[in-house]
Amino acid sequence: MTTTADVIVVGLGAHGSSIACHLARRGLKVIGFDSHHPPHTFGSSHGGSRIIREAYSEGEFYVPLVKRSYELFEDLQERTGREVIRITGGISIADRRGKGLSGIRASAAAHGSPIEYLEPEQVTERFPVLHPHEHMEAAFDPRAGAVFPEVAIQGHLDEAVKAGADLRFDEPVTKWRPDRAGNSVQVETKSGTFEAKQLVFAAGAWLPELVSKLRLPMWIERQVLFWFEPKANAEAFRPENIGNHAWEYEPGHSFYAQPDFGEGVKVALHHDGSASDPDRLDRRVSGEDEAALRTQIERYVPDLNGKLLNSAVCMYTDTPDLNFLIDFHPGHRNIVLASPCSGHGFKFSAVMGEIVADMVTEGQSRFDLSQFGVERLLSEESQAACPPEKRPYEVN
Ligand SMILES: Cc1cc2nc3c(=O)[nH]c(=O)nc-3n(C[C@H](O)[C@H](O)[C@H](O)COP(=O)(O)OP(=O)(O)OC[C@H]3O[C@@H](n4cnc5c(N)ncnc54)[C@H](O)[C@@H]3O)c2cc1C
Repeated sequence: MTTTADVIVVGLGAHGSSIACHLARRGLKVIGFDSHHPPHTFGSSHGGSRIIREAYSEGEFYVPLVKRSYELFEDLQERTGREVIRITGGISIADRRGKGLSGIRASAAAHGSPIEYLEPEQVTERFPVLHPHEHMEAAFDPRAGAVFPEVAIQGHLDEAVKAGADLRFDEPVTKWRPDRAGNSVQVETKSGTFEAKQLVFAAGAWLPELVSKLRLPMWIERQVLFWFEPKANAEAFRPENIGNHAWEYEPGHSFYAQPDFGEGVKVALHHDGSASDPDRLDRRVSGEDEAALRTQIERYVPDLNGKLLNSAVCMYTDTPDLNFLIDFHPGHRNIVLASPCSGHGFKFSAVMGEIVADMVTEGQSRFDLSQFGVERLLSEESQAACPPEKRPYEVN
């Protein structure tokens, strides 16, 4: 027997949980599947906190989306009564010898974000544990802060169920097929066949493999998170005294830290990880992983270079230009591909629910998604940027 719905959502992590929530609230019959039971530690959304910031260095076209995300996270917080987001302010420190703060300056100017620009010595005056070098410049974003991913995902899942969604956990989708006329899509899981008018793929690191015929030039990047106990001035790392700080220590190479929300200071290199496969990810943390990060911490935030409290391995799903993929499947207008990652997608998970719900119900979003289209990924240039051995699926 086939179970039917208006929309099937594959993947209920950061984005899928929000998408299921928004679709169900619009009165659609939604069935959602996840291979695991989110929030879990096998994908891209664990680790206690994620940075949110407004003056977006990655492109000014992200700013309207993140502004709406702030509103929707606050709404989720109100509905659930749990702390989803905390504004602490945040500082971005960049190497002037590269692009420096040009992305932040452009976004702030285009959207009127109240950014304070600081010289290295002003940074240390204000945050005595931070020691930028002379060739660096800094921008303080008072709207920056943290989103708590496990709380946000659980909140979206609870709200989705409240609105009538049928969510099924530990139930991977193993096959999917559209009908020729484009009126429906079927998926298979261990409990049977399910059919819906529309399908949304929000499967994170597993998306490239689920739609492997498209040969998406996307790869899975291993990332290691660490929690350290400061070796001095522990109070200075509490969220009342410091927000997140992101360091481009050389052009194109970065690390970032969150304040100590009670479990130590979370800190990690951003990118520079090896290409991997989501089902064969090396989840062991090596001495080399730790040493690479400590070298940078010792240089710029030496008081943080204390005892290791915890570590975890996570995954980025990268595109060649590091922008998201949010589009209809090029062959099937009733299938949405939602892959906002490249290491900076969580802050958009709240707005993603609204965006995809608009795509499903109205055929388009009110936001400009032109930078996130699938066609750019099918171009020769994008394909060349991701050689077959990097891809997490077999290339025939
Ligand atoms: C270490 C780290 C730090 C980060 N820091 C930040 C940050 O500070 N700020 C920020 O904005 N972003 C950050 N990001 C990026 C952000 O966390 C991700 O963009 C986002 O969490 C991705 O969400 P997702 O829904 O695509 O993936 P996930 O949350 O991993 O969800 C995908 C889900 O799909 C399920 N699934 C897969 N295949 C199937 C299938 N066949 N059937 C059913 N279910 C399936 C999986 O089980 C999983 O639950 C960070 C990421 C990492 C790894």
